[in-house]
Amino acid sequence: MKFGTKAIHAGVEPDPTTGAIMTPIYQTSTYVQESPGKHKGYEYSRTHNPTRTALQKALAALENGKHGICYASGLAATDAVLKLFRPGDEIIATNDLYGGTYRIMRKVFEPFGLKFQFVDMTDVEKVRAAITEHTKMIWIETPTNPLLKIIDIEAVVTLARAENIMTVVDNTFATPYLQNPLDVGADVVMHSVTKYLGGHSDTVMGALVLNDDDLAAQLAFIQNASGAVPGPQDCFLVLRGLKTLHIRMQRHCENAAKIAQWLHEHPKVGKVFYPGLPTHTGHDLATRQMRGYGGMVSFELKGDVYEEAVIVMESLQVFSLGESLGGVESLCTHPASMTHASIPKEERLKAGLKDTLIRLSVGIEDIEDLIDDLNQAIEKVESHG
Ligand SMILES: *Cc1c(COP(=O)(O)O)cnc(C)c1O
Repeated sequence: MKFGTKAIHAGVEPDPTTGAIMTPIYQTSTYVQESPGKHKGYEYSRTHNPTRTALQKALAALENGKHGICYASGLAATDAVLKLFRPGDEIIATNDLYGGTYRIMRKVFEPFGLKFQFVDMTDVEKVRAAITEHTKMIWIETPTNPLLKIIDIEAVVTLARAENIMTVVDNTFATPYLQNPLDVGADVVMHSVTKYLGGHSDTVMGALVLNDDDLAAQLAFIQNASGAVPGPQDCFLVLRGLKTLHIRMQRHCENAAKIAQWLHEHPKVGKVFYPGLPTHTGHDLATRQMRGYGGMVSFELKGDVYEEAVIVMESLQVFSLGESLGGVESLCTHPASMTHASIPKEERLKAGLKDTLIRLSVGIEDIEDLIDDLNQAIEKVESHG
């Protein structure tokens, strides 16, 4: 089955009791048993819920995986993966990483004895150099946030497999519409379902997709034992959101490409970060690895004046200022003061993150309105030609 057909049909069957075409919201905590232990496969909704089961199957199908497991948030999914490891185990993670992933690794799991190294994975040799006999997992996030660097998933996975190291790919930015890490040998795909998969900024959820039966059983055990499960109402909303994933992503990519090009040509704009631009350092790799370049664009203003970035963000009207991404509506974020504020300025600059960097989650509105909006906002700042 092709992607769009899967997005609409995978995992979803007419309700057996009524024929309802939409999966019902099974808003129930428990299930009546005929006799002790004799039931229809459902005992308690932390363990299994039919609405969640449908969604888990749909997500597995979209990532070309065998097992889908949903959690209460993206970070709860990450938490479940990290609970697979034991004191002394070492994990190598991407250095340009989602802030919350960095936080759970350093602040929650490091005190329990897990060891983390954060490495610039655009250079595979740096990953190789970081591997020790205790390395148990490599955590890849690509495209990265907010600089949209591209990591060669296949190269890192090949290296990891040779050393018997598990690989996990946070596929939130790309979505399965643009890349399927399991196809190139990654062990687990992680998603913040909150973003493009849900797609409507109305749900917080996470998911893991994988092929290995034993690992899936361990992760499902943690899902039930730790209990960070999504409710059936949220599963329904994501099932509904998934049905338009392919057409939403198509428009996100189209709009983002046009905005990136427009920004690139604007005299008041400095660097533009978008993997679809030939000037982007990861452009060739993105072209090989992804089926499109995504809906995220970051850019700097010329002159690097912090106050001017603020003026632009305050002046935007169609773009809303806020954290998160991946919804149908356009958002803008200021990483230096919002998502990455906890990192000292010198550290940020070392990583290439300037104070004027603005990150856009380009929505699916009409492109003319988005560009008009950016234009009126950028017109308000001085030219630093
Ligand atoms: C948002 C996000 C997460 C965390 O997901 P939540 O659903 O907010 O817990 C992880 N990785 C990436 C890339 C994200 O954008």
